[in-house]
Amino acid sequence: MNNIRVEQTKSEVLHAAKQMIRTGLVAAVWGNVSARTPCTDVVVITPSGVEYETLTKEMLCIIDLNTGEMIDGTYKPSSETPLHLAVYRARDDVFGVMHTHSTYASAFSCARQEIPPLIEDLAQVCGGPVAVADYALPGTDEVGHNVVEALGTKGAVLMANHGVVGVGKTVSEALRVCQIVEKGAQICAISKSIGEPVLLSDADVTWLREKYTTVYGQQKTK
Ligand SMILES: [Zn+2]
Repeated sequence: MNNIRVEQTKSEVLHAAKQMIRTGLVAAVWGNVSARTPCTDVVVITPSGVEYETLTKEMLCIIDLNTGEMIDGTYKPSSETPLHLAVYRARDDVFGVMHTHSTYASAFSCARQEIPPLIEDLAQVCGGPVAVADYALPGTDEVGHNVVEALGTKGAVLMANHGVVGVGKTVSEALRVCQIVEKGAQICAISKSIGEPVLLSDADVTWLREKYTTVYGQQKTK
């Protein structure tokens, strides 16, 4: 294990977790955040039941992606660790995962309605509608299975009657995805209350997604 890189990953997870609570994507101790250290099978994840404002790097849990076992840390890992590991195992392009309970997106998850990519930034970060994964009890392996299936190659998914999962090349991108999904859910709800929202065409959504993943991605690697 490259300790310097893992320490960097811990800093990134801590920052994203603090931003998650400060931007209102979760309340109290709900939600969870993880990142995979690049070129390793090491996953850093937030602990279970700790207030985010008091969270420190030392409280984060280090998990072996292959075995699911905790390899470093003194706190109990998030109860949704199996969900995070399932996403990393299914998607080798994903190095950050965030799970939130943000209000409008969760409302769509309760109505079992996907969030259409009405607005360009949602089309960019998700690559299509934010689909709804089948319901499963929290913390079970079934949650991970359902999320992976509904997520496919996209950037976000809703968990039925539960919340949101956003993924990215980094944990800060996963945070951004969760913020945009919540904003997209709000815009969709408001737009439906005003009139009948006009959908972007599939071709436009594809173009927006490709520009986001290629052009923006190249900028980030420089
Ligand atoms: Zn949850």
